[in-house]
Amino acid sequence: MSRAVDVVVLGAGVIGASIAYHLALRGTRVAVFDAPEVPQPPSASWASAGGIRQQGRDSREWALTVEAARRWPTLAEELGATTGFRQGGHLHVVEQEEDVPALRERVARERQAGIGVELVTGPELRTLAPGLSPAVLAAAYTPDDGQADPRATTRAFLSAARRLGASFHPWRADALQVEGGRVIGVTAGIEQVKASWVVLAAGSWSSRLAASVGLELPLAVRGSQMLLTDPDRPSLTPTLTAQGRRLSLKQLPEGGFLIGGGWPAAIDAELHACSVLEESVRGSWIDATQVFPALAGRRVAQRWCGLEAQSPDGVALVGGSRMAGLYLATGFSNHGFQLAPAVGAAVAADLAGQAPVALAQLSPARFSS
Ligand SMILES: Cc1cc2nc3c(=O)[nH]c(=O)nc-3n(C[C@H](O)[C@H](O)[C@H](O)COP(=O)(O)OP(=O)(O)OC[C@H]3O[C@@H](n4cnc5c(N)ncnc54)[C@H](O)[C@@H]3O)c2cc1C
Repeated sequence: MSRAVDVVVLGAGVIGASIAYHLALRGTRVAVFDAPEVPQPPSASWASAGGIRQQGRDSREWALTVEAARRWPTLAEELGATTGFRQGGHLHVVEQEEDVPALRERVARERQAGIGVELVTGPELRTLAPGLSPAVLAAAYTPDDGQADPRATTRAFLSAARRLGASFHPWRADALQVEGGRVIGVTAGIEQVKASWVVLAAGSWSSRLAASVGLELPLAVRGSQMLLTDPDRPSLTPTLTAQGRRLSLKQLPEGGFLIGGGWPAAIDAELHACSVLEESVRGSWIDATQVFPALAGRRVAQRWCGLEAQSPDGVALVGGSRMAGLYLATGFSNHGFQLAPAVGAAVAADLAGQAPVALAQLSPARFSS
């Protein structure tokens, strides 16, 4: 079977699904390939903590994060399906006096970039998160931030893309087709689809596919794990991260506390799988209970891990590659979920020849020597 479209998207994680949706919105003929019931373990969009956080990012992501923050509150309505978005704000807390000046400076820089962030201390901080440890001195607060459901959001993007005419092929591509030094399509089983562009949005699987056409991506596979406690009465509205700790903490609508922050999982490179490390469970629990002592009485009910593509500078690779016809949207380095609505729109604009400024500094060319 052979057919032709304008763009093939490889991967229907939150990034690929958002790109497909925004392309379809422009009337582009799109074909998306991924496993049938996306998202699945160990993909990042399956494992993700779902934190929606603008602050504390590399300045190259500022334009995208601000645009994404603008989209999140109305995204569910736009896509006609739930995203689980809840705007409870985000607090990045500091516990050491010497960290306060640097936090103050970061807040000033981010405010200039258009991020709605402020420094909070004392009673104001305790009102926002009454259960914080007395050791917490100050926090950067972004009231527009919050949390969403990564699996629901990914499905919502893909369903909306399909309603707009994108075709979904429920299997992974086997290979990229190359002719005259240009990627001209993909093969998947007996199916061949030709396209002007192939977008590689296969997260931690991206390097394998790129290597099959001789393109070496500067990406490592990173395994990170999550813990979920048994449910409790609502007591934490904002999401939390903490200076000097591997911690992301939030209370889900169902009452459980979701604890992450990048504690490493074990990786089986051959199987492309991960498994939970007891050592990381202990470290994660210590960080979480020291910042939010009310957690100490809770029990860990679930643990899981996921794989993400990590770039050398922690910023994604988005743009054309050295291989003509192959466009990269990968390497989101454990913080791509919040960006997804803006990345999808920007990539669709880029493929339409509009060269969006927001992507200028994410070009994969920054790693070419
Ligand atoms: C534990 C964890 C917690 C996180 N928490 C947050 C957070 O709180 N906030 C935040 O902003 N970000 C967070 N992130 C990061 C965020 O989840 C990711 O950046 C984002 O989900 C990446 O999406 P993706 O679509 O690039 O990759 P993935 O979700 O990994 O999707 C890649 C897809 O490619 C598919 N694929 C593989 N091979 C092929 C092939 N040959 N053909 C077609 N498809 C293929 C896979 O099946 C998969 O569905 C977290 C990540 C992890 C791992």
